[in-house]
Amino acid sequence: MAKVLVFIEQREGKAKKASYELVAASAAAGNETHAVIIGDSVSGLANESAQFGANKVHLVQDAALKLYTAESYSRALVAAIKTVNPEIVLAAHTPMAKEFMPFVSVMADAALATDCTALTFNGGKLALKRPVYSGKASAEVEFTGAGMQMATIRPNSIGLPKPDTSKTADPASISVDLSGLKTKILEVVKGNSARPDVTEAAIVVSGGRSLKNAENFKILEDLADTVGAAVGASRAAVDAGYRPHRDQVGQTGKVVSPSCYIACGISGAIQHLAGMRSSKVIVAINSDPQAPIFQIADYGIVGDLFQVVPALTTEFKKIKE
Ligand SMILES: Cc1cc2nc3c(=O)[nH]c(=O)nc-3n(C[C@H](O)[C@H](O)[C@H](O)COP(=O)(O)OP(=O)(O)OC[C@H]3O[C@@H](n4cnc5c(N)ncnc54)[C@H](O)[C@@H]3O)c2cc1C
Repeated sequence: MAKVLVFIEQREGKAKKASYELVAASAAAGNETHAVIIGDSVSGLANESAQFGANKVHLVQDAALKLYTAESYSRALVAAIKTVNPEIVLAAHTPMAKEFMPFVSVMADAALATDCTALTFNGGKLALKRPVYSGKASAEVEFTGAGMQMATIRPNSIGLPKPDTSKTADPASISVDLSGLKTKILEVVKGNSARPDVTEAAIVVSGGRSLKNAENFKILEDLADTVGAAVGASRAAVDAGYRPHRDQVGQTGKVVSPSCYIACGISGAIQHLAGMRSSKVIVAINSDPQAPIFQIADYGIVGDLFQVVPALTTEFKKIKE
């Protein structure tokens, strides 16, 4: 059994479910599981952490933590580490953690394994798996020495159990010195999509160059909205201006691990696979039976996406009705 501290990532008072995956996994392994929520007026999330298995919930609250910056959040998490004194610190591998956890690892003088897809608690020792060579192989990682162990885990790698809604938390407050911060967010300009982000969605419908223009992505959006999915894109589609860069999946885009990834007219270049090959189920729709994407697909449809995708949308709508 180890003392584990899980960083609960939240934006505008809404926690990422990927953080709760880690709380639940730690609690299920019998660890003394602490959760820390950083922000301004975030006490409303304390009960959720307890319901997924946290033994103790800590809040680091300050008006200066309302909007995330790597500088302020790393100071806040280090303050929590000093108070809780954990053996293991975990965070979901999101763009936020990707940026600020390396700062924390330096400030706390601890080792950090990033972008892991599996974790096991062997007593107080973490055993991790992380993809290497663009996901073509995976490395098994353990920490040497006796110091604190830190890791970021890809969302959807573990799965989320049902919360025990009868539980409540009695959160403790941790103070942090935020004087002399050198960075400040002036404004957050939000995207106008109501769809989930590709890194968090359980289903991702992605399109490639073959969509031919931005307007044709409407057929993927219709399918996505029918099944509650995010819309992703290959780099070729993004470079051609069909989708914004935030939707790009791959080596130079986002890494996703949804339950189901539907690749529509995407050839399956190694750089694209690097961002989606850890998806649980991969469906490929491509007119070329030799397309490399079929080599990693669980289900393949050889056909014209302009016919196949609308037909799938119609069938899913029927099922939903
Ligand atoms: C350093 C570097 C980093 C990169 N990073 C990324 C990255 O992060 N993400 C990424 O995606 N790529 C990345 N790339 C680019 C990558 O190598 C490929 O060029 C790109 O993924 C190809 O995109 P695509 O599959 O949409 O296009 P294409 O390779 O042109 O494939 C189009 C596919 O659509 C099929 N098709 C055509 N018409 C239809 C139709 N009507 N119905 C069904 N199928 C059809 C074709 O058979 C073909 O397989 C990177 C490249 C480099 C060098």
